[in-house]
Amino acid sequence: MSTDLTERALSAYAPSAEFAAQANAQASLYQEAEEDREAFWAKQARRLHWHTPFSEVLDWSEAPVAKWFADGKLNVAYNCVDRHVEAGHGDQVAIHWEGEPGDSRALTYSDLLAEVSKAANYLTELGLQPGDRVAIYMPMIPEAIVAMLACARLGLTHSVVFAGFSSSALRSRIDDASAKLVITTDGQFRRGKPAPLKASVDEAIGGETPAPSVEHVLVVRRTGQDTPWQEGRDVWWHETVEQASDQHEAQAFDAEHPLFLLYTSGTTGKPKGIVHTSGGYLTQTSYTHDAVFDHKPGKDVYWCTADIGWVTGHSYIVYGPLSNRATQVVYEGTPNSPNEHRHFEVIEKYGVTIYYTAPTLIRTFMKWGREIPDAHDLSTLRLLGTVGEPINPEAWRWYHEVFGHGRCPIVDTWWQTETGAIMISPLPGVTEAKPGSAMAPLPGISVQIVDDEAHAVERGATEANGYLVVDKPWPSMLRGIWGDMQRFKDTYWSRFAEQGYYFAGDGAKFDEDGAIWVLGRVDDVMNISGHRISTAEVESALVGHDAVAEAAVIGASDETTGQAIVAFVILRKGVENTGDELVSSMRAAVAKDIGHIAKPRDIYVVPELPKTRSGKIMRRLLRDVAEGRELGDTSTLVDPAVVESLRQK
Ligand code: ATP
Ligand code: MG
Repeated sequence: MSTDLTERALSAYAPSAEFAAQANAQASLYQEAEEDREAFWAKQARRLHWHTPFSEVLDWSEAPVAKWFADGKLNVAYNCVDRHVEAGHGDQVAIHWEGEPGDSRALTYSDLLAEVSKAANYLTELGLQPGDRVAIYMPMIPEAIVAMLACARLGLTHSVVFAGFSSSALRSRIDDASAKLVITTDGQFRRGKPAPLKASVDEAIGGETPAPSVEHVLVVRRTGQDTPWQEGRDVWWHETVEQASDQHEAQAFDAEHPLFLLYTSGTTGKPKGIVHTSGGYLTQTSYTHDAVFDHKPGKDVYWCTADIGWVTGHSYIVYGPLSNRATQVVYEGTPNSPNEHRHFEVIEKYGVTIYYTAPTLIRTFMKWGREIPDAHDLSTLRLLGTVGEPINPEAWRWYHEVFGHGRCPIVDTWWQTETGAIMISPLPGVTEAKPGSAMAPLPGISVQIVDDEAHAVERGATEANGYLVVDKPWPSMLRGIWGDMQRFKDTYWSRFAEQGYYFAGDGAKFDEDGAIWVLGRVDDVMNISGHRISTAEVESALVGHDAVAEAAVIGASDETTGQAIVAFVILRKGVENTGDELVSSMRAAVAKDIGHIAKPRDIYVVPELPKTRSGKIMRRLLRDVAEGRELGDTSTLVDPAVVESLRQK
């Protein structure tokens, strides 16, 4: 059963002496960054290749728009590909690609260089100029990564749109960015079946009001299905890119040249087109991939299970790992195609050593049962990571034991689309990690937890009374919201304008040891009879109950208490729903863990929860359901039918 807060705070997991001794990042890194932050970041930036070295590190004179390494010039794709080939590693596998239907391909760094060069040559032939925007709407196939790198190589700004999004979501993102080119595929495999994708592009940009900015659609053949075609506008990748020359010389761009736009996942509202630039972004993604994942080029086999449609895919599939000469697994499909063994088979097949995923998937694996991972040899794993939501301590311990056999450090990494790279995380060879806590800001990063008046909150406070803020600029920070600098200022910089803090929108607290607990979004914090209670803590208490695989908690308005806690729970596989008896034991678990005040008024056992396509629970929709309101923006929801079925409750 669940443990109480004190016990939870005490049970820290220290890295083994063996792991600590070989770790890339040692404790001295904190001290080094503390002594001279800018010198520290300059040193990290010099891990990259600069065509023109920078002389200035940070220019914060136009805050909140930072300039990092502003007079330096580099080519991001050259850093991710060419330099490894030039250093003699052309034959090293960059990507072990695993298709959903069971096909696979290996691309070495030399192969990647040839592919990226061909694509760069053809995009140049199409007349694209540095700074032009390109929308990428593709499943997880190597060409998607090639397309991103070709854009980076030419100074084109990519905007990757998750291939699970609807045509209307694609259209609004194409229009917002005025994209000239859309790169897509004929179709994609989803749960064993080919589904059309190019047809969605046509629906998005064609019809009665064609998207004015789009000149061409470049189509990779993936499924071979029949595909609608518009002569003159549409071109096949295999007839153009694949025929182009594989020789291409990369030009250098300013460190502040825009690299990409990416829309946030829309958990709290309308998605924002976050702008990232080149030098600072690559510096921090590269450094964090090295320090947090302890990655050893040429030795590790790394697997990040995200999709390139999310920032995690940008920073920890494409730019971070490739800049560090990783050999990585890229998997096209869902974790249960053709069955629930798929991820574990992939780990076995490639001997994966570093595995990075989201709490939602860990909870799904828990729901499926440990017999599945137990049927596989996972002994190659040496480090595990999570991102996307707070991880419930129970899920952390399950991950540690069932995946890591108690042997692998877990890095719980807090960051956002806006931060570009990891900000808060254990250092795997240094930090004694507490399940459920992201622990401490990385060397070079400075955060605070403050109250409404911007005063630092007291350590050890049990209430969710703090706002997480970043009080010093960092290299991979967002440079704006595309086309809406006012929203950029209002959203992130107005809350603590006087102090100049970046407002992350998440609640957090320090425990008595100074470890950071992210408590969920500020909008989700509940107020029960004047007590501020975090959704994350109540959810973790529920997940600590043997019967519960997943839980979502919200505050619904209540006449007596202001707000009342309402919980939606999914049971673990094989658990029988005994109704009132089961629900009472769940309420008791919360009372034991947190206190009577946190006991949910209502607990509903449900088959599914509304999630964004990146797997995050959309609590705002559950609030709408609980209070009988019209639903807010559902454009980034996986399955709108889930909310409808909850309404029947
Ligand atoms: P939107 O901003 O459109 O509402 P989003 O915030 O879900 O969408 P992302 O940038 O993908 O979009 O997610 C960042 C958020 O995810 C963080 O602000 C935080 O709430 C949550 N998060 C990410 N990693 C962690 C973590 N390790 N621990 C706790 N929360 C995390
Ligand atoms: Mg956000």
